[in-house]
Amino acid sequence: MDFQHRAGGKTGSGGVASGSESNRDGRERLRQLALGTINLAKDPYFMKNRLGTYECKLCLTLHNNEGSYLAHTQGKKHQSDFVNQLIKNFQLPRYKIVIQTMIGQKYEQTLRIGSRCLWDPKTDNTVSVNYETKDMIAVVIVHAIYFE
Ligand SMILES: [Zn+2]
Repeated sequence: MDFQHRAGGKTGSGGVASGSESNRDGRERLRQLALGTINLAKDPYFMKNRLGTYECKLCLTLHNNEGSYLAHTQGKKHQSDFVNQLIKNFQLPRYKIVIQTMIGQKYEQTLRIGSRCLWDPKTDNTVSVNYETKDMIAVVIVHAIYFE
């Protein structure tokens, strides 16, 4: 791999890309990828505020650019908040909802995810959903625990 001809690189200063450099490349790729398939104008949680920065109305987070917002929407906080919002629509006022989201890249290895919860089998329950592509895996586990 040629590290000497990177933007801002000095001859002879080649080496492994720094963390921030890799992050920037990753975010740019993600931004280009997502912009092809996601229309931000139709996203109900996307908002440009009067300071010119972007906000996620669901998670109340601030983002400097659209790429940052798009990266956020594919992260576990946004996904958990999104699932939580869906569950609120069921209106289960006496239930405490606990959501665990795991998103990971596949490295040709096996992954085992476990979760433990103390509950009453008469009233409490859990559901998990797995989503998998050739590069990534996402698991969402929802626990519903009844309170008297
Ligand atoms: Zn969000």
